[in-house]
Amino acid sequence: MNTDRNDAPAVSNFIRNIIDEDNRNGKWSQRVETRFPPEPNGYLHIGHAKSICVNFGIARDYGGVCHLRFDDTNPEKESVEYVESIIDAVKWLGYDWNKNGEEHLYFASDYYDKLYDFAETLIQRGQAYVDSQSAEEIRANRGSATEAGTNSPFRDRSPEENLDLFRRMKAGEFQEGEHVLRAKIDMASPNFNMRDPVIYRIRFAHHYRTGDTWCIYPMYDYTHCVSDALENITHSLCTLEFEDHRPLYDWFLAQLADDGVFTRPLPQQIEFSRLNLTYAITSKRKLLQLVQENHVDGWDDPRMPTIVGVRRRGFTPESIRLMADRIGVTKVDSWIDMSVLEGSLRDDLDAKAPRAIAVLDPLKLIIDNYPEGTSENCSAPVHPHHPERGTRTFPFSRELWIEREDFQETPPKGYFRLFPGNKVRLKYGFVVECTGADKDENGNVTAVHCNYFPDSKSGTEGANGYKVKGTIHWVSAEHAYAAEVRLYDRLFKEPQPGAGGAEFLDALNPDSKRIVNAFLEPSARDAAAEDRFQFERHGYFVADRLDSQPGKPVFNRIVSLRDSWGKPA
Ligand code: ATP
Ligand code: MG
Repeated sequence: MNTDRNDAPAVSNFIRNIIDEDNRNGKWSQRVETRFPPEPNGYLHIGHAKSICVNFGIARDYGGVCHLRFDDTNPEKESVEYVESIIDAVKWLGYDWNKNGEEHLYFASDYYDKLYDFAETLIQRGQAYVDSQSAEEIRANRGSATEAGTNSPFRDRSPEENLDLFRRMKAGEFQEGEHVLRAKIDMASPNFNMRDPVIYRIRFAHHYRTGDTWCIYPMYDYTHCVSDALENITHSLCTLEFEDHRPLYDWFLAQLADDGVFTRPLPQQIEFSRLNLTYAITSKRKLLQLVQENHVDGWDDPRMPTIVGVRRRGFTPESIRLMADRIGVTKVDSWIDMSVLEGSLRDDLDAKAPRAIAVLDPLKLIIDNYPEGTSENCSAPVHPHHPERGTRTFPFSRELWIEREDFQETPPKGYFRLFPGNKVRLKYGFVVECTGADKDENGNVTAVHCNYFPDSKSGTEGANGYKVKGTIHWVSAEHAYAAEVRLYDRLFKEPQPGAGGAEFLDALNPDSKRIVNAFLEPSARDAAAEDRFQFERHGYFVADRLDSQPGKPVFNRIVSLRDSWGKPA
């Protein structure tokens, strides 16, 4: 597996070099206008997040603007729900499309009239024709990698005849598939995209914005470059799979510029590599399948690599932008390790997140020599490296919750936590010595007993007199806040689900979600939705944005403290 760099933010890249050069020679008079052009046919994923960061990030750095344009020319698959979710996702990532008070939010469907007029222009110039071959014939006549395609018998229709047919296509006089409009380029081109590509097809479909106004719809390659030119885009950044489409992009714009529709310079398409993230899926179709077949609990399931999913999981917009900076922009497709995203989250939250104590797998610890019915306060820093953020206090009492794994009746070698006869420090509290444990009839440990040393309290002078090898965390049983905590693991067991033609669903991890009833430090009860914490020893957690109630948060684990991706599941 090839993983990309994981170092400081990229200062420059080949796209910025092109823009710098354009600025030096005045090509665009220092103007930088990019666009992010999603099709509203699904929820955006982490791959789109990279494209958003590249497009909006570059526009921002150069004092330009990035347009948000909905590329909505496939009526069957698109909807307002998707439009709204995409708008939310881009905003959440921290970007907007406003420049000097002007909103640069566009819909390709708003250009249908212009696209139609320009198609007539191409027909009149003899550069487009109505083809009446069937879809199968068109496919069969495209040729192969080694053979040129065959010209359509309809290729030499006169502009008058083409115009008449095209207008009648628009008027709804024909059935779907009866005719298409094609660009007249070169059936022998080594580039398939140049072998007379289809520009318009007949579809009697309802469009979520234009309703039933149209029964012919423009194809992506034609719509895209024309939309860029209409919006005065300077640099049209897209992923590498469009490299072969660039000659067509340039061809359409050149014809229309020759006709005076557009002025030069024309927008420049520049391709960069897609983001592929290990243990994640970045295909809208497969994500839809996960949702529709109930492998996950919806688009915003915290295990989903959708933007709504990673948000709900607890990732911050900063961490996603940081990841995008770290992986940079290259021309080489590669797989980015999930640890790059998680490392960015840790680096973002380490400095920000307040600390708290949570016991996720609780076991009772009874301090037999601590007086019953009393308690006292212990204190800990809100953040160990930021004393100015103050301290938090929480009670210590006779019965505590500790992690089940912090007691072993017969300890393995090198185990320094609780076992009969051993002393440990209860972090921010006292040193205790384990005296034994209670068990049920099946031999399961139900409570651990110990005695404490009253002069060993952390922060007091006596504390220094005790040297112990183990420190464990705890919460007072009477004062703890009982909360649902959702522990998420990787959604897939394989780093590249579905690689080599395998069924990606076979790689699903059956244990990717575990819900535990945990006990938390009382202060965690005040968490508002989307408040993030570092639960000491356990990792970073967020109060679920949907299921948390005021005063009753539910927590999701975002990531553990250390990278565990390298280890087998
Ligand atoms: P579709 O198959 O529906 O076209 P798509 O993932 O290409 O899916 P679009 O809505 O067309 O979705 O994508 C919008 C933009 O996001 C495009 O410019 C595309 O290049 C970019 N993009 C999509 N996937 C990735 C990815 N994995 N990494 C980087 N950019 C991506
Ligand atoms: Mg696409």
